[in-house]
Amino acid sequence: MRTLRPDKPRCHCGIFGIFGHPEAALMSYYGLHALQHRGQEATGIVTSEFLTERSKNRFNVHKGNGLVSDVFRDEKILKTALKGTAAIGHNRYSTTGSTDNKFNVQPFIVNYKGGNLALGHNGNLTNFRTLRSKLQQDGVIFQSTSDSEVILHLTARSQKREQVLQIKEALDAVTGAYSLVILTDTSLIAARDPHGFRPLCLGKLGSAFVVASETCAFDIIGATYIRDVAPGEILVIDRQGLETGRLRSLWVSRKPNEHHHCIFEYVYFSRPDSKVFGENVDRIRRKLGKLLAQESPVKAEGPDDRVIAISVPDSSNTATLGFVTESQKNGDDVRLEIGLIRSHYVGRTFIQPDQSRRELKVKSKFNTVKGVLKDRTVVIIDDSIVRGTTSKQLVKLVREAGPKEIHFRVTSPPIRYPCYYGMDFPSKGELIANKMEGDVERIGRELGADSLKYLSLEKLLEAAPADGMKKYCTACFSGVYPVAIEQEALKDENDL
Ligand code: SF4
Repeated sequence: MRTLRPDKPRCHCGIFGIFGHPEAALMSYYGLHALQHRGQEATGIVTSEFLTERSKNRFNVHKGNGLVSDVFRDEKILKTALKGTAAIGHNRYSTTGSTDNKFNVQPFIVNYKGGNLALGHNGNLTNFRTLRSKLQQDGVIFQSTSDSEVILHLTARSQKREQVLQIKEALDAVTGAYSLVILTDTSLIAARDPHGFRPLCLGKLGSAFVVASETCAFDIIGATYIRDVAPGEILVIDRQGLETGRLRSLWVSRKPNEHHHCIFEYVYFSRPDSKVFGENVDRIRRKLGKLLAQESPVKAEGPDDRVIAISVPDSSNTATLGFVTESQKNGDDVRLEIGLIRSHYVGRTFIQPDQSRRELKVKSKFNTVKGVLKDRTVVIIDDSIVRGTTSKQLVKLVREAGPKEIHFRVTSPPIRYPCYYGMDFPSKGELIANKMEGDVERIGRELGADSLKYLSLEKLLEAAPADGMKKYCTACFSGVYPVAIEQEALKDENDL
């Protein structure tokens, strides 16, 4: 049976790294647990253990398909098998590479002339097809179908003497989006592409250094946020860094004039309790709701009416707060209600002949609180519409609760283009806004809503303002791609 893909873009990965901690594996486990929303298909941890008797390091690894709590269910794995004071971890969704290939589960681990090397990658390389094909022609054998493996082979083939310079040479050759954690025998290396598409932050836990995709991974282990790993930076964390508190930085040589952080991290992917690209996600998401209320308010029908605002939990909760606050500030009678209840325990669904799988899936995930919706003017706030299939089922579900009207408001512009920088969107042809050529009224009719409004691109950028070099990628909304895409990738997209 074909799997029903979630009707939201999926983030490709969450990464974590720690250096100089006696319980590096356990800290990585908690960090990955906090980053579970960034990837739920597979997870893994690699630790570096110093073997005094042989004066060399051993890399220990445990990885598998499933959630962090399932893959590391046995405490002994963390406490006995994964010994060492440095570790990296990775949560994954399938990106470039198939889900069922076990070799695609990260961190990748190799032993080459420079020693041990393990790598965890969040993002998507835009020139990996070209590089992979060149490497294959040179006789390189790939184990996985993942783009990340290219970085390992390029590192291994470098003629530079110092390992970090080998890694730098590899990163100079790749383009696109990458936030990386790399474990070597002597260091933890954190690196970010020159555009800074994906987040990566640096923190401190006692004397240990930690890096993670989002700061929520620091909070769970009590680490303190120091700063972001800068776009284009290769940060080396080693013994010397621990002792002096100063870390060594190298830079990827292709430095752009501007950074292009993924604005979708603010719209949907990142947790609201995280700091991402130096900003609190909660603050920006509230602002998105506020700006949406300014642009597309929902008014009560008359003195006896009141607008009930409900969020599509959980990702739209914060923006809904912003929408309601702003509406009330503008004198609109809008009240926040918990009108949709989300079940977090969605298992397998057994389809009935008269129900579509999508409908059943939505019903097993959401239910309405009918008393608060009946005979009311209801506004549903959601962060994005992808295929529109879930939104349509949600409107149907709310309609069954007997409201007077249903208005749909979205805290981002219509998604019309795919992402090549590390988010898993359905193909262009499946995106409802693309299928309906951006005709918002038509999309609204298709969803069955009495009105549909999206936040404009201009207002989205107002919520996350550019600042000097700091700019945002908006390609999935605007079609303007800051880094060129390989023709082959475009062709793959068109073939879908
Ligand atoms: S295309 Fe969209 S999802 Fe992809 S990096 Fe750009 S803003 Fe983010």
